[in-house]
Amino acid sequence: MDKKLFIKICKMLYDRKYVVGSGGNVSVREDEKVYLTPTGSILGFLREEDIAEIDLRGNIIKGNPTSEKNLHLALYKKRKDINAIIHTHSIISTFLSTMDREIELLTPEGKIFLKKIGYVDYFEAGSLKLAEEAGKRDEDVILLKNHGVVCLGKDLLDAYIKVEVLEEQAKLTLLKYLFER
Ligand SMILES: [Zn+2]
Repeated sequence: MDKKLFIKICKMLYDRKYVVGSGGNVSVREDEKVYLTPTGSILGFLREEDIAEIDLRGNIIKGNPTSEKNLHLALYKKRKDINAIIHTHSIISTFLSTMDREIELLTPEGKIFLKKIGYVDYFEAGSLKLAEEAGKRDEDVILLKNHGVVCLGKDLLDAYIKVEVLEEQAKLTLLKYLFER
């Protein structure tokens, strides 16, 4: 596991305000293990030694994993083709979810990188019900109502790019809506 890249992506998520405070979490699956951000951590200030580790059944190997670990595990269980998951509270994407508005894929970039967006109703953060419902989705990009987004990738960079492109499409969707009013 490339811990340097893991820390760098976490810092970029924080610096670019896809998360604020202790929001959001990141994981990577490698060699039957899942590496996760620790619970309550601020992604912009993470150190390599803080990264928690669990096995695919959820048993803790090292550290204190994010409270959303069940959501990450549910998606890894369903999707054998993905090895990285990023959950953020990207502000415009989250705002549109509170307004029950779907994010439109308005540019070729959106259609290429995101393909299709999945939607999950509101369930309490960290709950088994949220993990269960998110784990039913087939899309690489999932919007959690009144909460945030989940982006899946074949690797960490792939998941990160989807976070950026999704928020870009959300901004364009909002601008289109404002312009048309
Ligand atoms: Zn969250």
